[in-house]
Amino acid sequence: MRNKPATVSLKLPPEFIELCERDLVTPETVLRGFIADLCSLHNYAERPRDDGYQTNGSMESWLAFTYYQRVGYRQKAGAAKPRVPSPPQSDRPMMHVYRRAKGGDTWHFCRNCSKWPTKNYDERQYKRLPRSGQLCNECRSGEANNHCQKR
Ligand SMILES: [Zn+2]
Repeated sequence: MRNKPATVSLKLPPEFIELCERDLVTPETVLRGFIADLCSLHNYAERPRDDGYQTNGSMESWLAFTYYQRVGYRQKAGAAKPRVPSPPQSDRPMMHVYRRAKGGDTWHFCRNCSKWPTKNYDERQYKRLPRSGQLCNECRSGEANNHCQKR
């Protein structure tokens, strides 16, 4: 939380000035009142604020904050943020490691397959399925059930 007051200068439209003149209030009082209501600022006599901001009351404070939320500044800021581009690899097939026992004809591609060869094996990396040989049925069903650990 910042403690230093910020100064903002802004041009006020004549409609706003006229509204204030009609109700015999200064634009500064209206704006300060809204800010104090929005942020529930109390200028207690025993703990006076240096800036003198004082809410008009709890109902005014609730209405101001409800209005503020209704505008949805945060959502607007989020929607305006540039979307993170998805990585370009999405349309590229992943490299998968295939193993088969030496002399065997069945390729495995799930490390958690009960028949995953851990010694005496041929290993290849393919983007797609190997052309020769067969694919292990256990690996296939693991893939279909999302149980296949590939890395
Ligand atoms: Zn397998």
